[in-house]
Amino acid sequence: MAGSEAAWQAAHMGVNVVLHEMRPKVETFAHQTGNLGEMVCSNSFRSDDDEQNAVGLLHWEMRAAEGLIMATADQHRLPAGGALAVDREPFAETVTARLKALPNLQVSYEEITELPDQGQWIFATGPLTSATLGAAIQRETGTERLAFFDAIAPIIYADSIDMSKAWMQSRYDKGDTEEERTAYLNCPMDKDQYDAFIDALLAAEKAEFHEGETAGYFDGCLPIEVMAERGRETLRHGPMKPVGLTNPHQPDVKAHAVVQLRRDNALGTLFNIVGFQTKMKYGAQTDVFRMIPGLENASFARLGGIHRNTFLNSPTLLDQEMRLKSRPNIRFAGQVTGVEGYVESAAMGLLAGRLAAAEMLGMALPPVPQDSAMGALIHHITGGADAKTFQPMNVNFGLFRPLDGVKGGRRGRKDRYKAYTDRAKLAWQDWLGNFS
Ligand SMILES: Cc1cc2nc3c(=O)[nH]c(=O)nc-3n(C[C@H](O)[C@H](O)[C@H](O)COP(=O)(O)OP(=O)(O)OC[C@H]3O[C@@H](n4cnc5c(N)ncnc54)[C@H](O)[C@@H]3O)c2cc1C
Repeated sequence: MAGSEAAWQAAHMGVNVVLHEMRPKVETFAHQTGNLGEMVCSNSFRSDDDEQNAVGLLHWEMRAAEGLIMATADQHRLPAGGALAVDREPFAETVTARLKALPNLQVSYEEITELPDQGQWIFATGPLTSATLGAAIQRETGTERLAFFDAIAPIIYADSIDMSKAWMQSRYDKGDTEEERTAYLNCPMDKDQYDAFIDALLAAEKAEFHEGETAGYFDGCLPIEVMAERGRETLRHGPMKPVGLTNPHQPDVKAHAVVQLRRDNALGTLFNIVGFQTKMKYGAQTDVFRMIPGLENASFARLGGIHRNTFLNSPTLLDQEMRLKSRPNIRFAGQVTGVEGYVESAAMGLLAGRLAAAEMLGMALPPVPQDSAMGALIHHITGGADAKTFQPMNVNFGLFRPLDGVKGGRRGRKDRYKAYTDRAKLAWQDWLGNFS
């Protein structure tokens, strides 16, 4: 996805491109063919609503930039209501054919195993980056900065949390500044609520691991339902321990358990539930997590999961143009940068392709506007996200700068989303003007 779009964009800006693809010579457990642009699982590009949905807005921005992936998806669109579903085989065949038809683009079927010293490179090797290359990336970045799994705790929109039940406080009021002392958002449970929560967790439907994924968990990354299976009290002594916290709404009542959430972005619009990675199915997750006091009406920016996924700690490793800070001739793009999904990956490929070609052509570009969906995503992965808890992210309105400086704001949700998308389109069109 990302590599195809990056190559397309760079070639259209007039630079010579070589697109390296290891398949079909070297296979992955998920891909079935040697085609470029192969969709490995679902055939959905999700919502196509560019006024009320952040991924729909990303579609719009990619179409405005004459993206290959969107044009081909539109060509092979299947009926799917408000979603954009794609006939995947002709889609990938068309992506491959259109790239191969470009006179200044060459496709080379080989595995890249090192980070080269010379030339401009974009590494868009995805969640299933080959093992040899993964090892080379680790040698450059340090082992702890390249993850092979994402263990995602659910992420919730701050403005959907009931603060008449929850409160902000770090355990034992730790921290030198007021911000640090109030870094966590706490949701208290009494014994009955805790028991009901554990019962629901144990009964919830769980997803299976994909073929090729390991079912072995590593320490510090256990799904909460596995912890609950090990004993009803395990969570109360782990991520839900109630110690060092005082509920200002009921200072005399000691909570039986406390669920903690932590800011997930610098804007403070998103919170993740600390230690709550899970393999529960999505429907079960929303039911179970809404049992937590304060989260009854929670709106989820993303649900939890554990998947095979190679990705960089981009907030520490990449600059704002997606270059590896230690090796600026190398860019990363796509899912390996910590975005999630076909559309987001292709979007980051689109940016990387344009930014690399602009650099080669000596064009001075202003930064990608943060108010566009593209800009919100690139800003998140290259610095806006908390590097310590960085996990792959879909595009969502929680990544956007608040309107009128107000989080959540005075407007209704529909008006707010429309205002975000209107603002984004203007900003994106303005930025694209640099290329005309
Ligand atoms: C099992 C599975 C299911 C998924 N299901 C979905 C889904 O339903 N919906 C969704 O939106 N997303 C899904 N994803 C995420 C999906 O992978 C991304 O959305 C998207 O494919 C990422 O695009 P990308 O360009 O970053 O990576 P990819 O599309 O994977 O492209 C990376 C390419 O790099 C090649 N490559 C890897 N290493 C090397 C190397 N060393 N040298 C040369 N070439 C190399 C690979 O062969 C591949 O063609 C799934 C991922 C997995 C693993």
